[in-house]
Amino acid sequence: EVRGIQRALGIGVEPKLTVNALEVLRRRYLLRDESGEIIETPAQMFRRVARAIAAADGAYGDDPKKAEEEFYLMMSGLEFMPNSPTLFNAGTGTGLAMSACYVLPVEDSLESIFTTVKNMALIEQSGGGVGFDFSRLRPAGDMVRSTKGVASGPVSFMRAFDTATEIIKSGGKRRGAMMAILRVDHPDIMEFIASKAKHGVLTNFNISVAVTDEFMRAVEDGRDYELVNPRTGKSVKRLSARHVWSQMAENAWKGGDPGVVFIDEINRHNPTPHVGRIEATNPCGEQPLLPYESCNLGSINLSRMCKNGDVDWEKLRRTIGAAVHFLDNVIDVNPYPLKEIDAMTKANRKIGLGVMGFAEMLIKLGIPYDSKDALALGERIARFLEDEAARASEELAGRRGAFPNYQGSIWKSPRRNATVTTIAPTGTISIIAGCSSGIEPLFAVAFMRHVLGGERLFEINPLFERVAKERGFYSSSLLDKVVRQGTLDGIKEVPEDVKRLFVTAHEIAPEWHVRMQAAFQKYTENAVSKTVNLPRSATPADIEGIYSLAYRLKCKGVTVYRYGSKGEQVLNLGLGE
Ligand code: UDP
Repeated sequence: EVRGIQRALGIGVEPKLTVNALEVLRRRYLLRDESGEIIETPAQMFRRVARAIAAADGAYGDDPKKAEEEFYLMMSGLEFMPNSPTLFNAGTGTGLAMSACYVLPVEDSLESIFTTVKNMALIEQSGGGVGFDFSRLRPAGDMVRSTKGVASGPVSFMRAFDTATEIIKSGGKRRGAMMAILRVDHPDIMEFIASKAKHGVLTNFNISVAVTDEFMRAVEDGRDYELVNPRTGKSVKRLSARHVWSQMAENAWKGGDPGVVFIDEINRHNPTPHVGRIEATNPCGEQPLLPYESCNLGSINLSRMCKNGDVDWEKLRRTIGAAVHFLDNVIDVNPYPLKEIDAMTKANRKIGLGVMGFAEMLIKLGIPYDSKDALALGERIARFLEDEAARASEELAGRRGAFPNYQGSIWKSPRRNATVTTIAPTGTISIIAGCSSGIEPLFAVAFMRHVLGGERLFEINPLFERVAKERGFYSSSLLDKVVRQGTLDGIKEVPEDVKRLFVTAHEIAPEWHVRMQAAFQKYTENAVSKTVNLPRSATPADIEGIYSLAYRLKCKGVTVYRYGSKGEQVLNLGLGE
């Protein structure tokens, strides 16, 4: 019992990190002294985080030592990871916040706009991402009373946010991501839809159109709909809903933006309608929030929740309980960047527990990603996560009290958190845990990963390597081929069933991507981050079809990515590309 002995001696169990994980940790996560020397090991990092988060237990008469051990073991065992800002900042004494997701209000005044730019800067310093709804801003060309001039409109103000973010990013640990949302009935909607069409503009923003049920009906019926000036509340123009819909698809076809947010579906699930309407999400869309609300995320590595070719439900249950405890504690110890955020976050106490490594779980269970069985498993995992996380939150409420806005919320029995589940992209924490991202299929069986500042790291899927060896078709010439094309397509020596199992994102029909997103969304309280991959040959009409399907299946939003449509990709297939 090496672990037990190490624990008794107070020595950290060294996690089994991949080369890439170590590289990422060294570059951005491990603490450094003033001269820039790294002063902690990965085990010490997990210890630092576990201790800082467990400290919240003291205030409730629970034993922080016990929680620290539990938190430490699940992180160093690569079973659970909190979002990056928690790993960066917990226990460092820097006063930087630990949440990945924020939404800030933008009101129709210079005072509000530039206060929000400042607040955004404070958030981005900690590694958090911010979403904004720009729909309250009067449209371009509208009257400005004080100066007798004309307003410049939401899109031009977005440039101020973008430039500020560009400057902060050069000094920070990671890119400050932002989400800009505009309602489909804002008079500047056409300009917004095309605002990222030019190469190299608004690069720090993801943009999404907030689409209403009313608009979706107008698309279906082929009707016009009204654009409303938010300053006067008056209708200023009518547009063909189908035209706007097709322009959204056209621009997404060219470069991935805009995405779509189904804002009425989001508000049908708003847990605290008595506190306010939800108008925006965080940058990757998985976390709808009220203005000034923040949320911290965490993800369970499903690849480590398998036993004998099946799901280890007991281990998953235990891990969910500990993870809810962890994320709820973060709310207490988090040094918020603003007093408004502090108050709002503590009143709702939203947390977002999700999963990563789903693709590897499927492989271990022998289920191809694009199959009915995979959808069924996805739904089952989401439901289990939801039930167990809600139960853990109710238990916490029994001992520590319900979230302050509980009265008037949609929940029938007291819980500690207004929401408990979110499926995050897990872009970096999945690298640290050495698993596939979120609920995405494998991106490739082997690939070059671009990380930070142009570096490239080579990766081959370890499960494939193992299967190839076990089944006796492993060879260096085989690996050469896989690395060159990224997929197993057309490689003779790989058996058909192995090819099916290691199917990659771009080989999977777009409908399966949407259906998997919907399967998880069915039992997820917040939203699901998922990219719908399209082949290079897909058309704008295909994208319209995908958007409509996502709406029908009750997704809260949808983002597509057509292969090769963005100049700079985080992941590139194989070496040949
Ligand atoms: N995020 C950000 N900048 C980044 C990556 C992420 O601001 O470069 C924020 C954003 O709100 C995103 C959320 O973190 O939606 C979760 O992203 P992800 O799960 O990829 O983060 P990780 O914890 O893996 O770094």
